[in-house]
Amino acid sequence: MEPAVQVRALGKRYGRTWALQDCSLEVPAGRIAALVGPNGAGKTTLLHLAVGLLRPDAGEVRVFGRDPRAGTSVLADIGFVAQDTPVYRDFTAAELITMGGKLNRRRWDAALARDRLALLGIPPDKPAGKLSGGQRAQVALALALAKRPRLLLLDEPIASLDPLARREFMQTLMGAVAESETTVLLSSHLLADLERSCDYLIVLQTAHVQLTGPVDELLDTHRTLVGPRAGSEAVAGVEKVVRASHTDRQSTLLVRRGTGPVDPQWTEHEVTLEDVVLAYLADADTRVAASAWGVPA
Ligand code: ATP
Repeated sequence: MEPAVQVRALGKRYGRTWALQDCSLEVPAGRIAALVGPNGAGKTTLLHLAVGLLRPDAGEVRVFGRDPRAGTSVLADIGFVAQDTPVYRDFTAAELITMGGKLNRRRWDAALARDRLALLGIPPDKPAGKLSGGQRAQVALALALAKRPRLLLLDEPIASLDPLARREFMQTLMGAVAESETTVLLSSHLLADLERSCDYLIVLQTAHVQLTGPVDELLDTHRTLVGPRAGSEAVAGVEKVVRASHTDRQSTLLVRRGTGPVDPQWTEHEVTLEDVVLAYLADADTRVAASAWGVPA
């Protein structure tokens, strides 16, 4: 199946600073993909390139095989909720839903948006500017879902939500994907929330892709190894040491497993998504560890 998003050697520069450089990745259709990385990593830039708000300075981005800046045809397939969920503050939710219908004549599910807001107890007749930040985020999501998009791009959608609302929000997304085969790409810093609901991961750091792949595969191929204090010798069954830490007597390694069994003097532990992401994000540590273990970073 054609990927929902395909990015090849993508670069975007602001003045002399590259916000994204030589990025290649795919978001397969039907996934809920998490886009994670520290502040300034390039997440918003990538989402803006995917929705055609920015023009690449190098490489290309395709959404369902089409250039989002070449005509508007693919834009009808994309729902986008920008950071800080901007909605017209003087308009009520009901008015925003009506306006959405006028702007998206091809397919607009007003009932879906209304039902969703009613379920959440969000008053339809209150100006959006008088709702709480979390309620406004829910209105923005309801509007994006009413478009029935094939690809939903969400920039930090859950940051302003309380823990219960975050869980509800992610469940709605999973429901939307299951029902309508919507692909979701959402940026977030809240790793614990993503682990439950996202099945694809993209880690960005300082303009580069550090890691990408299906979550189950990443969890399966990475392990924490604990063993006697080690030097720089290779460990049997390990393809790459991502991060190493040592005490006087013991070493702890987060590794990508190779094909064979791991040297039995190491105890293997399963990892969480957070373990994996943080290990790859610890960029300086990654380089030190990799060079110490004779592995290119
Ligand atoms: P955050 O998690 O803080 O939202 P981000 O990962 O979304 O960060 P971007 O907003 O994509 O990061 O920014 C990537 C880089 O590009 C940063 O170094 C940022 O300072 C720079 N940048 C972003 N927008 C502009 C702009 N309009 N003009 C100049 N530099 C920009």
